[in-house]
Amino acid sequence: MSFDSLGLAEPLLRAVHEQGYTTPTPIQAQAIPVVLQGGDLLGGAQTGTGKTAGFTLPLLHRLLQKPAVRDARGRLPIRALILTPTRELAAQVEESVRNYGRHTKLTSMVMFGGVGMQPQIDKLKKGVDILVATPGRLLDHAQQRTLDLSHIEIFVLDEADRMLDMGFIHDIKKVLALLPQQKQSLLFSATFSDEIKALADRLLNKPALVEV
Ligand code: AMP
Repeated sequence: MSFDSLGLAEPLLRAVHEQGYTTPTPIQAQAIPVVLQGGDLLGGAQTGTGKTAGFTLPLLHRLLQKPAVRDARGRLPIRALILTPTRELAAQVEESVRNYGRHTKLTSMVMFGGVGMQPQIDKLKKGVDILVATPGRLLDHAQQRTLDLSHIEIFVLDEADRMLDMGFIHDIKKVLALLPQQKQSLLFSATFSDEIKALADRLLNKPALVEV
């Protein structure tokens, strides 16, 4: 199978080709069509399988296919949220988003704690399509009302098992409560404990199960 047969938009394929990828990895071959069709996804995949491109490419495609809609205040809202357990992973994922999206006008931002809030607030004000964040700082912004997640169209929970191991379950539930009911959700985890299954049940609507 080639990337060209997956139906991704031309600016994304161009970025993929420039990256030197010729063949989708198994998780990409299975996940990309599901996400392109708007379905929810439960993905069993570890780091190193190509899962980041597996959710990033179709996420970018979905956003490109639908124009952004201004909110009641005339501002362009955040359209996609990717939640990760660590700062390092958040930074890596956001770099992938920027990389695969470099021939599009979509904008992204990474948000984590341990750095000042104000630069993040300034960046949010300029308008961001895709936010990649760790839970703690995300909730700090939400509490201060410097972040509005009510227009999220696509939500990705990456490395969900690591999030739970790190004690983020309450934070995740608080984040879920800030998201609109109507959205596309993807959950990735390397393992499937009862706790992960319960979280998946709560978040996902008739998900396709993709395991590699
Ligand atoms: P990930 O599992 O998303 O962290 O990706 C692992 C590594 O595989 C990254 O360095 C990617 O650049 C690389 N990669 C992702 N997809 C492909 C592909 N289809 N062909 C070759 N390398 C890839």
